Amino acid sequence: MRLIITEKNIGDWAAVHVAKRIIEANPTPEKPFVLGLPTGGTPVGMYKRLVQFYKDGILSFENVVTFNMDEYVGLDKDNPQSYWRYMHDNLFDHVNIKPENVNMLNGMVKNEEEEIEECRRYEEKIASYGGIDLFVGGIGPDGHIAFNEPGSSLSSRTRSKELTKDTIIANSRFFGGDLTKVPKVSLTVGVGTVMDAKEVLILVNGASKARALHYAVEEGVNHMWTISALQLHRSGIIVSDEDATLELKVGTYRYFKDIEANNLDTDKLIEEFYAKYKK
Ligand code: PGA
Repeated sequence: MRLIITEKNIGDWAAVHVAKRIIEANPTPEKPFVLGLPTGGTPVGMYKRLVQFYKDGILSFENVVTFNMDEYVGLDKDNPQSYWRYMHDNLFDHVNIKPENVNMLNGMVKNEEEEIEECRRYEEKIASYGGIDLFVGGIGPDGHIAFNEPGSSLSSRTRSKELTKDTIIANSRFFGGDLTKVPKVSLTVGVGTVMDAKEVLILVNGASKARALHYAVEEGVNHMWTISALQLHRSGIIVSDEDATLELKVGTYRYFKDIEANNLDTDKLIEEFYAKYKK
């Protein structure tokens, strides 16, 4: 696992990485680039920068297929807090992605049967593209990846999950601080779904995630911190800001700072990216 600790914007680091992967894959309609995507506060900076790359003519989403991680149960597309709305506001409405290439879980399932069917459909659709090339994600303060709360099976697939109190409190900031407005159930890809991606890139920011980052990096693989499954992935990267490293040992912090020393200055990485790919 790589751990990138940057003093600069983690979203910029992630955007350069995602953009390079898409460009270098040279995707076509027959062989699109398949990208897994998160919502939440953390990836907003990444989406801003990806939109910028598109506007600057350096990055195209024409042959990119996306799969989002999760959706709240009970929020329809028009709800301002739905992840469908979030993704359109932050990325899809600003780039040339084809609507038919956008995949999101439908949270408006009416009963358990529909839930199961929707999750099965999603897994099958991912499989129909030969899997996900790069899954980008965030983590919650309780170490969840997507909505795989503590105790989730590390080999889980797409299914419905109840949100923990921690997560409901953390996400209430998007619902005017009103806990009762936060949906209690989500549909989410499983830990196994994320780990099946060819590469996984996780963004971690802020002191509230420091404990989760410690468990992700310094403790063993454990279902109580589902992000720790990343230790078993062949191509796992965590990009973290300084605040999220507060619970790491000094030795761990220094080790990753040292081996990634040439990859931490996002301004320089963006400059190099433009120099290499701007026509
Ligand atoms: P956040 O959420 O980016 O809004 O902090 C991340 C998550 O809960 O996975």
